[in-house]
Amino acid sequence: MLPVEVLEETQSELVNYKNSGMSLIECSHRGPHYDEVHNEAVGLVKELLRVPDEFGILFLQGGATLQFAMTAMNLLAPSQKAAIVHSGHWANLAMKDSQVYGNVYIAWDGTDDQFSRTPSENEIELQPDTRYLHITTNETIGGVRLYDWPDLGVPLVGDMSSDYFSRHIPWNLMDVAYGGAQKNLGPSGLTLVIVRKSVLETHPRDLPTYLDYRVHYATNSRFNTPAIFPIYVAGKVLKWYKDKGGVDEFEKLSIARCAHLYGMIDASNGFYNCPVEGESRSRMNVVFRLPNEGLESKFLADAELQGLVNLTGHRSVGGIRASIYNSMPMEGVEKLANFMDNFRASHS
Ligand code: PMP
Repeated sequence: MLPVEVLEETQSELVNYKNSGMSLIECSHRGPHYDEVHNEAVGLVKELLRVPDEFGILFLQGGATLQFAMTAMNLLAPSQKAAIVHSGHWANLAMKDSQVYGNVYIAWDGTDDQFSRTPSENEIELQPDTRYLHITTNETIGGVRLYDWPDLGVPLVGDMSSDYFSRHIPWNLMDVAYGGAQKNLGPSGLTLVIVRKSVLETHPRDLPTYLDYRVHYATNSRFNTPAIFPIYVAGKVLKWYKDKGGVDEFEKLSIARCAHLYGMIDASNGFYNCPVEGESRSRMNVVFRLPNEGLESKFLADAELQGLVNLTGHRSVGGIRASIYNSMPMEGVEKLANFMDNFRASHS
């Protein structure tokens, strides 16, 4: 979901950007119009996430999926090992792709608990000489959130695809934060990678040009043609975030939004059931089940009639998933909560 104001502004500028006689998406990626858009977006990322000068901000393509491998390619020598918190679907994919480039072992495994929680720092078991620990700060499908940033003397590499800009990042612990734009930042096609500059100096292997972070850092993400449209719209989203009070405000809102839905679930006498435990419950993706699949289908169909859409759980897990990213207004959450209340009253 994107803020309506951002969509409207994009629409109004689409044909003739700032009287240039062109759309921004027709402009050269090295010309003055795009220059301004690009640098403004980089500056807003830095400001909103309080990114220290020791980090470079990269706008890449290939999604978070490419970063599963690219983080390892750029950080991990074949002789080194990295650790991963196996928190669910996305961590699993990150593990598989990073294992192609080095020894990646599981330092905490949520499999036995059916990924119903994330670990506290002291449950994570690191082996000596671990180069980095990969974390998924929010598992978008499982609806679990890493509430504890592990401070274990090993740098973190974080997939923040689904909770970027809804929480501050402890930069002192990080080597890399990355995420696809399409949840909390803008349209798909852009991947935001924030990398500690010192990492770029200790490069473990030769890489093809596009896969090498150093190339993108040295060219301010313009070694080749960047994804102009998503960067342009992301810049507008970031401005909107800034105007609304920044990450502090969006964190507060995320807590209020999810509390409303979890409150409704927990007060339903088991009619709605969230499989995720307490603190590990996602603030962005509220997942829950109904007593049976027939009722879940009815729930989804009735919800759609009321304009409540995109509530189907991921195809791999089923159930219901309410994704409540930064641009979701509280009224949207209230409307869903009212619907849930009425649905339960008429079906339990
Ligand atoms: N990590 C997480 C946590 C995600 O939610 C997703 C996409 N839903 C991905 C990685 C993959 O991202 P992309 O589609 O940008 O490759």
